[in-house]
Amino acid sequence: MGRFTGKTALVTGSSRGMGRATALRLAREGALVAVHYTSDDVAAKDTVETVEREGGRAFAVRAELGVPGDVHELFLGVERGLKERTGAAVLDILVNNAGTMGGVEPEATTPDQFDRIFAVNAKAPFFTIQRALRIMPDGGRIVNISSGLTRVANPQEIAYAMSKGAVEQLARHFAKHLGPRGITVNSVAPGITRNGNPVFDMPQVVEQMARLSALGRVGEPEDVADVVAFLVSEEARWITGAFVDASGGSLLG
Ligand code: NDP
Repeated sequence: MGRFTGKTALVTGSSRGMGRATALRLAREGALVAVHYTSDDVAAKDTVETVEREGGRAFAVRAELGVPGDVHELFLGVERGLKERTGAAVLDILVNNAGTMGGVEPEATTPDQFDRIFAVNAKAPFFTIQRALRIMPDGGRIVNISSGLTRVANPQEIAYAMSKGAVEQLARHFAKHLGPRGITVNSVAPGITRNGNPVFDMPQVVEQMARLSALGRVGEPEDVADVVAFLVSEEARWITGAFVDASGGSLLG
């Protein structure tokens, strides 16, 4: 028996990066995982097949977040997948992980770029939580992925950091609201974490980024997945509304 045997989970943006690592980790410990993605069918399929090879259960759900009808489409797929496999649409664990960055000078950021970042990073998590609550039993778990950039300045990512600041407010206020139901809501803030970005294939750049962490390396997706797995476990029942720094000490100054 794993820690999450009998539980169901939705991890948004789990075709790649730390979302994928979180999906694999939860499935390895027994959860049935909805692997959400938007464009990369091959990567999503690979996440599901990796889970299955390891003896776990998962299914893929495609839905673009940040566009009208996004959450409706997401939950059509999630509920269908859950019903087919368990006979019921019950979601115990939600990880709002999908996100998009800016990478634009503040002077060059357009209203459309700004709106897109907020639609994907802040609005979609809010309405995903709102919708998930219809099928989440008491004692459920919600984790939202924020960013160390809510604590460290990066002028090319002002809109992104603002959106992640909003994500942290989700945890604080929903935690209060959902406490009576025993549902915990927390924020996890990763520092620089290896994903598919080609920048991680450049040793000199990686070395520079590693110096930002007190522990002297960049984060691996599994570093963050382990923190999320703890927060959605029974062991973390007394933690809610928290901001968890999962940056390897990158915010220590
Ligand atoms: P990746 O860039 O590796 O993967 C992003 C995932 O989100 C993919 O599964 C992608 O789907 C999905 N996604 C992106 N945009 C949308 C959208 N509009 N609708 C639906 N799905 C979408 O992610 P990371 O592992 O780098 O980041 C995960 C989270 O961590 C994000 O919220 C990010 O902001 C945050 N973060 C990342 C840091 C880092 O250094 N990597 C640092 C701090 C925070 P598809 O594969 O189909 O494109």
